[in-house]
Amino acid sequence: MRSITLLGATGSVGTSTLDLLRQDRSAWRVEALTANSSVIELAALAREFDARIAVVADESCLPALRDALSGTSIEAAAGPRALNEAAARPVDITVAAIVGCAGLGPVMAAIEQGGTIALANKEALVSAGEVMTAAVAKHGATLLPVDSEHNAIFQCLAGNAIEDVRWITLTASGGPLRGFSVAELARVTPAQAVAHPNWSMGAKISVDSATMMNKGLEFIEAHHLFPVGLDRIRIVVHPQSVIHSMVEYRDGSTLAQLGPSDMKVPIASCLAWPRRMDTPCDPLDLVAHGELTFFAPDEQRFPATRLAREAAHAGGAAPAVLNAANEIAVAAFLDGQIPFTRIAVSVEEILNETAIAQAPTSLNEVQALDGEARARTSALLESA
Ligand code: NAD
Ligand code: MG
Repeated sequence: MRSITLLGATGSVGTSTLDLLRQDRSAWRVEALTANSSVIELAALAREFDARIAVVADESCLPALRDALSGTSIEAAAGPRALNEAAARPVDITVAAIVGCAGLGPVMAAIEQGGTIALANKEALVSAGEVMTAAVAKHGATLLPVDSEHNAIFQCLAGNAIEDVRWITLTASGGPLRGFSVAELARVTPAQAVAHPNWSMGAKISVDSATMMNKGLEFIEAHHLFPVGLDRIRIVVHPQSVIHSMVEYRDGSTLAQLGPSDMKVPIASCLAWPRRMDTPCDPLDLVAHGELTFFAPDEQRFPATRLAREAAHAGGAAPAVLNAANEIAVAAFLDGQIPFTRIAVSVEEILNETAIAQAPTSLNEVQALDGEARARTSALLESA
């Protein structure tokens, strides 16, 4: 029996993870389950999986959580500190599936225990960068990538030396707006932006896929997970989402990982690593797909990958600022406050007015940078 903590249990990745645990309940002991504020859902999951503790980030939800867990021996807790403390409880594996930089504190708390972390929460790694990778090295933690592209690359690198890599190719579906003109993009509604053709995901990452900022964040994520140098990481649009990413070696061999576009596959790869486990996914039907196509990204219509690449090259505060500005702009778009095309424009404006300065060297510095960039972006969007 292995112990597991699931940060962000009520989300899209959280739900897929719990579906995999349901395949063999006797193999898992659930330590902590967390959510932002969905008390009823969280309490039901904590009861179903007999979790030791359930934590909500939103402190005002604590009485409701206690209520929903009454009659059980499951502990209830709330607030950012309780979230960090729950994440620091020793377990065999932590699945980090909170959305946004809000997940950084708990991820770092898990890393400091030196455990195994299956990381879906890419914003945390983009913001903290070297602070996180240094903590992983210092505490002897193991970081397993859940993000499908990075999980593919991780699999393609197994048994090979990173020095022999010529290219890492991140594939991108191109999102639901791939064929839209600039004029059409300006009129896109939140409902259109979140309607992803291949993947079913949370609202924030769905918008990121539509702007291509998701691929930009993934470019920075890949840079930290697989240190081959920024100039060896490239992006190819592959609308069918069958090839999840590729690694080309110096001898001209390219290894790719293929699979259904279902997050249960990369999550299962992390849960069972270094072994394999069954998933309820349909097998890949290549004949049904018929053809796989590839295109260069269009950075005129979708400037986000350029912004992320520039931020990665600039280093310092830039990646954390890029991420924070994007989180605020995406939330404003989903709220109907700004047009779709304003997301990338405002991220660029905030980056342009940022003194890149030195890279943050501690969790506190990352969180301070993140908070400051959020405040500036909110002010910018309100002033318009
Ligand atoms: P989601 O919105 O469906 O779920 C997010 C989870 O985090 C929920 O449990 C929510 O309660 C919790 N949460 C939200 N805000 C919080 C806060 N401020 N503090 C604490 N908890 C909070 O998101 P998702 O689509 O499951 O994505 C989760 C992460 O995984 C993101 O970083 C995303 O980029 C990454 N990811 C998702 C997918 C996917 O298919 N959904 C694929 C690859 C990577
Ligand atoms: Mg991905």
